[in-house]
Amino acid sequence: MMNKISAVFGSHVFSDQVMRERLPKAVYKSLKATIDKGEPLDTSIADSVAAAMKEWAMELGATHYTHWFQPLTETTAEKHDSFVSTVGDGGVILQFTGKELIKSEPDASSFPSGGLRETCAARGYTAWDCTSPAFVKTTDEGTCILCIPAAFTSYTGESLDYKTPLLRSMDAISKEALKALTMFGNTTAKKVTSSVGPEQEYFLIDKKKFAKRTDLKLCGRTLFGAMPPKGQELDDQYFAAIKDKIASYMTELNEELWKYGILAKTQHNEVAPAQHELAPIFSTTNIATDQNHLVMATMKKIAAKHDLECVLHEKPFAGVNGSGKHNNWSISTDEGENLIDPGKHPETNLQFQFFLAAVLAAVDNNAELLRLSASSAGNDHRLGANEAPPAIISAFLGEQLQSIVEQIIEKGEATESPKGKTYVSGASTLPTFTMDATDRNRTSPFAFTGNKFEFRMVGSTQSIAFPMMVLNTIVADQIKKMTDELEGADDFETACKALIRRELTAHQRIIFNGNGYSDEWVEEAAKRGLPNIKCMVDAVPYLAADKSVKIFEDLGVMDKAELEARADVMLENYAKKINIEALTMIEMSNEEIIPAVMEYQAELAKGAAEIKALGIDPTVQVSLLNTISEKLTELKSATVALEELVTKAADYEGDTEAWAKYFHNTVFAAFDTVRKPADELEKELPKTAWPFPTYEQLLFEQ
Ligand code: ADP
Ligand code: MG
Repeated sequence: MMNKISAVFGSHVFSDQVMRERLPKAVYKSLKATIDKGEPLDTSIADSVAAAMKEWAMELGATHYTHWFQPLTETTAEKHDSFVSTVGDGGVILQFTGKELIKSEPDASSFPSGGLRETCAARGYTAWDCTSPAFVKTTDEGTCILCIPAAFTSYTGESLDYKTPLLRSMDAISKEALKALTMFGNTTAKKVTSSVGPEQEYFLIDKKKFAKRTDLKLCGRTLFGAMPPKGQELDDQYFAAIKDKIASYMTELNEELWKYGILAKTQHNEVAPAQHELAPIFSTTNIATDQNHLVMATMKKIAAKHDLECVLHEKPFAGVNGSGKHNNWSISTDEGENLIDPGKHPETNLQFQFFLAAVLAAVDNNAELLRLSASSAGNDHRLGANEAPPAIISAFLGEQLQSIVEQIIEKGEATESPKGKTYVSGASTLPTFTMDATDRNRTSPFAFTGNKFEFRMVGSTQSIAFPMMVLNTIVADQIKKMTDELEGADDFETACKALIRRELTAHQRIIFNGNGYSDEWVEEAAKRGLPNIKCMVDAVPYLAADKSVKIFEDLGVMDKAELEARADVMLENYAKKINIEALTMIEMSNEEIIPAVMEYQAELAKGAAEIKALGIDPTVQVSLLNTISEKLTELKSATVALEELVTKAADYEGDTEAWAKYFHNTVFAAFDTVRKPADELEKELPKTAWPFPTYEQLLFEQ
């Protein structure tokens, strides 16, 4: 296996090693200065890099290249151009120029822009992001494409994608953290990088059964479906032995991901039936975002080969757990120092305490923004439900840091730190070892896990760029405020200790180590004054609120117009999604469920009459017929009512916020009235008479 990994790992990536081998020394050095130290890109090297990239990609079979970017949709975008160019005498040559590498010009008018388009017309540019390596993607049809990660902006420079603000936020946190480090005596670090390891949850469903579900096909989630007799209550799915079919899927998935240099490390069965998880080794927030997009796309692609369908939606099935994406986040210097690592003596490590206080203060000061960063129509089903973190932002610190924070608040400084105890099993044959200094908490949205924070709210379909951009920005902002305050202090150590104490005291209210799923926590959080934003449409307005605009503009991450545009895109997307769900529900009800029920009803009626004609008592048939007819009437009238509600949505068009709110408060709120009688009918009808696969078939017949 090891041989296999090393043979394929990174084989499709224009990696550091490939660059070192193929680029002229000076070009390599210049490019590395941009990638590693964040120095401005010297565009004069582009021709040389492009030529090497083309040679390398063609050796792998590539005929085309594309700028691969992330518009404000849920997927990546690409437009293939071949390497073919004409030359004067009518002949052709294969070429890829530096200009083509650096910039491309897709039509911006067909991507969501949230109104930025009106002011900037249709022109948009994609620009090469040299900090995320280019790669060659192969399709099953045998096409090989050189993909160049790129940022996407409008003609006037506003970002129209997820990558641009993420890169700006990485610059911001690097700049502010370096300034802070200087105060602590570190003048040699050149760059601070934010990293993330995103754990990705997903479902695998039998392909043929999936194809028969209009809701899964169009909405990514089921809109109907009664609970089967068994769900996840036996806790027998989590970490269960992986079925052969799924294991062979995972093996092929891993091999494909290794080609792209993605170190898929951990895989296991998740809590819900048919649910699984994959965790790669962490990387910079930018590369990890690109890789996570590749992971999601590859998961789907490989599933098709195994007669499976990969479902990434946050809540594909009611009644069992949905899927999220745990974002393990940390910041570290180019010298390899993790600024979130408590080290051996966190009680006396002032620098660590400074960054810890900054993170906690940032999270508390901007809880609404952080909550918003994980909001989507799909994630509305999770956040606040008893399976995912609550919609209330709190931070789990664990015993060790909790004790240190308490000491600082009480005495102004910490003097001792609880250490990991020794594991003693009581059985002589089992090993003993030192346990972690901190236990875990699965219910916390923002949990400290040893040397990183795990942001657990993020949705499974979402690009991690947005939440990571928000986290980088709010932490950078807080570091900046704290650094500014300490600048010019007569006695740095005393001033710093006092500042840390003040910040921890002011923000200790977000520290919560208990059960985040409990009702008591909701009450307690309200007493502490922590926001509890229940749904996405209520969270979005915080994005372009004055307080946010100030932070984002001060750090140069996004301006007011960009923030407003993004908020608009989010709300519009929400309304459209709920509209699609409503229309799908109506279609399934009218064209699939109701006809199937009527057919069965007619059969029952015929049977009852025949039985009666034979002089046999048809009570059972008649009673069933009555039940079914009643529920059928209920279903039909609820469907008609939903149709009317959807039609009325047109009244709100033009005011995106009101439109989205209407879809949430009125249209979405009516879904249950349609679903309930339909699910009850499913339970009354014979399995063979139901028009599409049931939860039982979808979840337990993978
Ligand atoms: P846990 O057991 O806490 O879930 P894992 O070691 O399984 O931790 O890691 C989960 C994810 O966190 C992985 O993607 C891993 O690469 C990532 N990770 C580990 N250390 C760090 C770090 N310092 N910064 C960011 N991510 C990290
Ligand atoms: Mg984890």
